[in-house]
Amino acid sequence: MTADAAIQSKDTFYIGGAWVPATGRDAIPVINPATEEQIASVPAGEPEDVDRAVAAARAAFPAWAATPADERGRLLAAAADALEARTDEIARLISSEMGTPLSFSVAVQVGNPVRVLRTFAEMANTYAFEEQIANSLVVKEPIGVVGAITPWNYPLHQVVAKVAAALAAGCTVVLKPSEVAPLSAYALAEVFEQIGLPAGVFNVVTGLGPIVGERIAEHPDVDMVSFTGSTAAGKRVMSVAAETVKKVSLELGGKSAFVILDDADFGKAVKVGLANCFINGGQTCTAWTRMLVPASKYDEVLELARDAAAKYPVGEPTAEGTRVGPLANANQYKKVIGYIEQAVAEGATVVVGGPERPEGLERGYYVKPTVLAGVKPGSRVEQEEVFGPVLAVIPYADEDEAVEIANGTPYGLAGGVFSGDQERAVAIARRMRTGMVDVNGGRFNPLAPFGGYKQSGNGRELGEYGLEEFLEIKSLQL
Ligand code: NAD
Repeated sequence: MTADAAIQSKDTFYIGGAWVPATGRDAIPVINPATEEQIASVPAGEPEDVDRAVAAARAAFPAWAATPADERGRLLAAAADALEARTDEIARLISSEMGTPLSFSVAVQVGNPVRVLRTFAEMANTYAFEEQIANSLVVKEPIGVVGAITPWNYPLHQVVAKVAAALAAGCTVVLKPSEVAPLSAYALAEVFEQIGLPAGVFNVVTGLGPIVGERIAEHPDVDMVSFTGSTAAGKRVMSVAAETVKKVSLELGGKSAFVILDDADFGKAVKVGLANCFINGGQTCTAWTRMLVPASKYDEVLELARDAAAKYPVGEPTAEGTRVGPLANANQYKKVIGYIEQAVAEGATVVVGGPERPEGLERGYYVKPTVLAGVKPGSRVEQEEVFGPVLAVIPYADEDEAVEIANGTPYGLAGGVFSGDQERAVAIARRMRTGMVDVNGGRFNPLAPFGGYKQSGNGRELGEYGLEEFLEIKSLQL
């Protein structure tokens, strides 16, 4: 166990504004992927724990929904400040439970949730919750009790993207964080307790997906489920939730393409593409894991990618200069190594990286940042989400073929285009069947709608579109 104060085993859930003991006695270990050692544990919730949390959220709903939106905004702003004050401690905690480099944890894993809380604090004040359409008054009301189910790759950001929007809308929440990285959800509950969020507005129950997650999805008193995670689990949540016809908003996996056009600055484009793919150890749903390049430039790009990959040192999350930490857990490690080995068995060549352990790292779930050439469109590694630092560089003959390859998977989450000509790049971006495309390195925008087409999901998070997911619409004919 660790001496770090924030990283402690838990034996309670946060329900109805109190820390209540779990019904069962089972605990889920939290493993530090850099050391493979247990650093803490959290209780494995039972369906009864979910029922208690839902009852608390239901009881709190009428008063929270009736709280003026600017007061809800004031509390969210206070939560942003309180979270920001704990940045270093929570960043260390997230790095310890899922392995991301500490500097990235500070800037993104905690920095983004703080920013996102502030955007929703502001929006609670400015959003028009009513609209006049001819003789109708359209009122936008909170949907009710929201069940939030989240993954481990951006454990706090994925939680806050849902919770901040839901609370701003006037909903109450029951959260089931990832069992792999559950500790920052406790820190968020502490923050809400500290700033005086009314009891029952935010509740946390940890546990396994098929038990706690499915109870949330099926619960007759949960009005909506907002799920982020794999497409397989999302499909299950949707089918379980169908029985009660509740709204289900899904943010799922991706297999995004980065299209480099023939007039691009290739040195710059390859750098931007690699950064996008390798950030957070490749465990980013929007990662551009397929780099599509003109066939005439293929060899040049492979050279550039080999050089650029050398700038991604793998190492311990807390070590100076680490850009790629260990993968988050043992399963993920096995899965990623398996994809690299299978790609090679199917004829791909390793340009840089490969399935062997990085030198000098004898334990921990470390994978070398890997660039593959010769990956065939339609093959498994080209079609399926690897969720590790693995890039496939794929040649195309012309723009039509580039778009066809980019759109040729069941996913449709994100993508990128790089060109010397902005208009040409935008024209390609418009042809991509995905929810988000970054043009010539366009920056992440926390106010832009975030979500996917096809099997990458059916909802949007962040900004006004993210808020509206949590609103019901009523028309009053006057
Ligand atoms: P996962 O699907 O294994 O787990 C996600 C959450 O769902 C966890 O809390 C898990 O306990 C729960 N869960 C699992 N089975 C369930 C079930 N039957 N019923 C209810 N809940 C269940 O995903 P993960 O491995 O934690 O995260 C990685 C995945 O998340 C990747 O596919 C990634 O692309 C995706 N993701 C998507 C986005 C997005 O916004 N589109 C963002 C981040 C991650």
